[in-house]
Amino acid sequence: MATPSPHDLASSVLVRLPRELRDSVYAYLWDQDILSTLDYPSLLISRAEPCRSTTDDEGNAICLCDTPASIPPFAQAVFVGYTFATEAVTWLYDNYEGFVLGDPREVMRFFTQDVFHIGVTPMGFPLRRLTLALHLGHPSANEYKDALAFRFAPLLRVETRVGARLHVRFESRAEDSRGHRHLFHAAMLMQALDSVVKEIKQRGIEVSMDFKHLLTGIMDVGHMLGPATYAHWVEFLRTEYAVALRRAAEDDVQLQFVDQRVRAMERVFAAGSAPDMPVAASRRAWVGGR
Ligand SMILES: [Zn+2]
Repeated sequence: MATPSPHDLASSVLVRLPRELRDSVYAYLWDQDILSTLDYPSLLISRAEPCRSTTDDEGNAICLCDTPASIPPFAQAVFVGYTFATEAVTWLYDNYEGFVLGDPREVMRFFTQDVFHIGVTPMGFPLRRLTLALHLGHPSANEYKDALAFRFAPLLRVETRVGARLHVRFESRAEDSRGHRHLFHAAMLMQALDSVVKEIKQRGIEVSMDFKHLLTGIMDVGHMLGPATYAHWVEFLRTEYAVALRRAAEDDVQLQFVDQRVRAMERVFAAGSAPDMPVAASRRAWVGGR
């Protein structure tokens, strides 16, 4: 007997197993190795539509595009048929908690783009868990509060479920943490997120926010939502730096390092203005609002 093709195996699973057992199969297929190589943000960019497709006997579109190696065969209709691939992708969107987006510009694409070219997008599923890992000092730092708020707006349209959660993480890299820009960006992002986060919390989505900082480690920044300006961020970080200095006091080398960095930041804070930001943007970040 010839070795069954992936298509035959998939058909056999569809015929013999009820949906709840098929979901266990999909849960098993999307294993950690596959999920860790999926690299969803790069699929959002590389898997543009429209799709070059043909149709199967039932009239379903079967994608014939060049497919990145990170998309597993069991999520490709051309290998396993339309129904199996669609159910596999549906399982992913309905259950996976590890989606991480690194740029506000990815939010709209994430919810509305059919990266598997199978007619299914995350917008069709109640939110389970999404992480926004926002790199302070990123090129999107050039966007003002209103433009950023527009980027986050799709979050207002998603359905929710019990336990739904949005986690926002700010990160600043060594090269970005010396100047003003990352703090202006933090102020802009928080002002933009303010109304979005308030509204989705009312709809039952739990929201957590933190800042992974070189000197201080991970700090909760949920309380910085709202009108927090650049000046508020300076005040907040000064307090956190004092804590970091006290913690470092046990270790001379560590203390010297932290002390140097804090002094450098103090010089930046003292300078008071932001030469690397457009004047209008820096004024808005200072005073809040528009
Ligand atoms: Zn396609």
